[in-house]
This record gives sequence, C-alpha cells and structure tokens, in this order.
Amino acid sequence: MFGRTDWAEIPNLQTLGDRHLWGLFEGQNMRENGARAVRLIAEQEYVSTLQGQHMLFLLVDLLSRQFGVVGHIHLDVANVPTHEPYRQMGGDVAGAALNIVASNSQGRIEASRGKGQDVACTVSVGFATGFQDEVVTYGWSDGWNVYVGRNVLQVPYTNGSIPLGPYFGACVLASEVFKRIGCLNERFGKFAYTFYYSLWTGQEYSSLDDMPRGQALSKVELPELVIVGLGAVGQAVSLVLGMMADILTIPPIILIDGDHYDSTNHNRCVLGDGKDVKQKTKKVQIAERFLMSRDIVVRTYDGTWEKFVFESPDRNTDFQYEWVLSCVDNNVARHSIQQLWPHFILGGSTVNMTSNVTLYERGSGFECMKCYNQPEENPESPEELRNALLQKDEEQFLRLCQKAGADPTLVMDYLKTAQCGSLGEAEIRKFESTTIEPSVGFVSVAAGVLVVSQLLRCLTSGVNEAFPNAHNLYFSLLKLGHTSYPALANPECDCRSQYFQ
Ligand SMILES: [Zn+2]
Repeated sequence: MFGRTDWAEIPNLQTLGDRHLWGLFEGQNMRENGARAVRLIAEQEYVSTLQGQHMLFLLVDLLSRQFGVVGHIHLDVANVPTHEPYRQMGGDVAGAALNIVASNSQGRIEASRGKGQDVACTVSVGFATGFQDEVVTYGWSDGWNVYVGRNVLQVPYTNGSIPLGPYFGACVLASEVFKRIGCLNERFGKFAYTFYYSLWTGQEYSSLDDMPRGQALSKVELPELVIVGLGAVGQAVSLVLGMMADILTIPPIILIDGDHYDSTNHNRCVLGDGKDVKQKTKKVQIAERFLMSRDIVVRTYDGTWEKFVFESPDRNTDFQYEWVLSCVDNNVARHSIQQLWPHFILGGSTVNMTSNVTLYERGSGFECMKCYNQPEENPESPEELRNALLQKDEEQFLRLCQKAGADPTLVMDYLKTAQCGSLGEAEIRKFESTTIEPSVGFVSVAAGVLVVSQLLRCLTSGVNEAFPNAHNLYFSLLKLGHTSYPALANPECDCRSQYFQ
C-alpha cells in the first residue's frame, strides 16, 4: 500500500494472479472469465473521516492486486484531504487512491476518475447516493464494528481511528468484487446482503442497535511481540499494528523471516510493491520499512525461527517467550515454534477462502500447534502434487484424474518427466482447481485483522472473554460466516505431559 513506482520487468498477469486464478467455485476457472471493470464510489462525508479512509485505501489496495480479475477501477471519489497515516501517498483521497493502484499494479490494472461504464459491479465506501438504480454493495465501519450490505443505513460518523472494522469491511467488499466477477453460484457461497459484524465479540448481528461499541484502546500497552513469518498474514498484522501506533503503546517488535518477496506473493502481501517484486526484497525488510515509518521500533532477523532462538543477539537466553504471533504457512515451522513452548502463541492462517486465528495457550488443555498439524507441508506446487500422485496405485490415480477432469496420459507424462511448462504441468493444475479454493489477498488480510483483534481482546478482557467457547475462530469469506470449535489437546501429544499442566 505504501509503494514506490519502479518496475521495469513486469511479470505477466497469469504469473501475478496465479494464486487466485487457480480455480474457483467447483471447478469454474477464473482464468477463463477475463478481467472486468469495477466501479468504486465513496460518500464524501464518510471518506473525510479516518474510518472511511482506512476502508477506502485498503479496498483500493486489495482490488489493485486482483490481477486478471479486476481490469479497471473507476473511482468516483470526492477530493478531500488525506489523514496523516496516508498522507505520504498523496495529499487528496482520489490522488492517493490512484497512486496505490499505479504502485501495486504498474498498469496491469488501470484506474481512472469518474463513474465509468460497463462495470461488473459497484461497491461503495460509505453510503454514496445517486446509484440506487443499480446493485450497490455499501461498506461502513465504526471502530470495532462493520456493516457490508445493499441497504443504505442512517448512521453516525465518528472520528475513531481504530482500523479493525474498516479493514475487515474492506476485505468483505473486496471479496464481493471477486465473487461477482467470478460469477459465484450461491450454492457455494454467499454475497453480502446485510452483514453486521463485531470484531469485539467475533459475532454477527442483525442490526446496528444490537452491536456493542467495543472498548476504546487509548491506554492499552502491548507486550513484547515476536512475529514469525512476514508473508501475507504477517504483513497484514504489521499493517494493522502500524496503523494503531498512535493509540497503543507498542514496545520493540521482533520480526523473523528468511524469505525473499517475489511475484507469487504480490497478490496478497499488502506492504509489498512492484519494486519489491523486481528487487526480491527480504520480507522482513518490507515489514520493517513500514513499521519504522510509523515510529515503531523493530528488530529483524533474516532467517528461520529455529536459527533465531540459537543465534540472534535479540533472542531470549532463557528461551522463555510470552507472546509469539505465528504467521508462518507450513507445519514444520509451526512445530519448531511450539517446541519452545511460548506462553501464548496466536496463530493467523488461511485455509482456502477462510481466515483463521487460533490461540495456543500453554497448559490450557486446548490443542497446541503440534497436536493435529502433521509436520509435512501441504502439497501445493506441481512438484509436491506430483510426489503425492506418485504414491497412488493405478485405480486411485485414474479416479483422481477423472474427478479433476484431467487427461491421465498427459498427467502420467508429467509425473515421469516433471517438465515445466509442458501440457502435463497444465493438466496437473486441474487437480488443484477442483480441490483448492484460490489464495486471495483479502483472506490473508482478514486473518491479520482477526489476529490483532483477538490479541487486543485477550489483553483487555482476558483469554476467556476473547475466546469464550473455543480457542479458535474461523471466518469464511466465501460464505460470509464464522465458526469455532473446541479442539481439545491430542492425548498423545507432548503438551499433555505433566510438565505443562
Ligand atoms: Zn499438543
């Protein structure tokens, strides 16, 4: 979101959008739909507030990463001054929004001011008028609370600076665009007709009057945080924390990640820009750059958590950690974090189009990070899928090919040669498209918002209030619904030993 513009070698749309173009909605392929134009309108009074600007700028950022889905953004946005945290992107709201699109997409997604024509859908930040003749999805927020739906509400506008509600609303609005352009069949998911959600309670409501306001946060002091993994979820956590620098007391944060940023990250990482794709910037540096711009002190470690705890001068020599935010995306890393038994691990992750936050509390009797996660990584790349398919017998293999609609001869050809760019590689992707929902930016950002919301709830109200029934919260952006389930510790796991009780 806070990008610079210098992107000489632009990867193509298929590469940039690869993770969300893989497939969608029971085999219907997003690649074949083609990119469409979107109309984004904003109510002047609402985008004059910081709440409105939080929602607008994150929404613009998310849309300008939907490569191959969103082709053009028509911005019908009034010229009002930007608030401080966004001033570096431009002095007025419309100009700053155009800058975000240019910086993220480098012309791969166009943006222009005006109402535009032939749009696939219209979304509104606040309740812009004059568009009642078309289907408009409106978004509005007040601190912890958010509304997304098709009705115009009479609501107050506040000067609140909490970005949780507006950012969550931006994720829901971005998912609405993705589902509309992807021609979602409502048997598989749900559009936002009237959706009221409180990040304070993690619950849905049927009207604004029923929603609690949530706590003001002006005196909250964060504990020392270690963030492991600065990919899509870790960057979203960094964004949200950075935007709360004025209202929270934030001690130095330790950032740990050894990876480079590349074009496969760019559709979901809110802090990375075109220059980072070109330069393959370290992910820790991208998060550091933003947090420092918000006057937060950070210490970075360019490597894995395993190496950090033995090598880094910033490690705790007694190996005791109170709060670790786990934003890693594989079970090997999860096991190694759990291995040191921090008191609290708050894990943010995505499963298909569902955002998840789970609290792993030492000695709680609920699951730890080792209880049910197998240490193998999930098959994801064609190479990993290839290894998984090679384990199958002939009958299983043919059945899987049939289910995926893939040609068994071409797939077998790929299994034998593993040749990149071959017909067989294209064929093997069909397995992913029927079994994997797309990895889209708004799912990762929603997970980051949930992590910070739940962290603040734990600190202000206690763990039992934050997670009243279970230590996890799942929110599906496909179905617009939340769930949680009490996952008790696996009796066979180390965490059940007396040492931790
Ligand atoms: Zn366990």
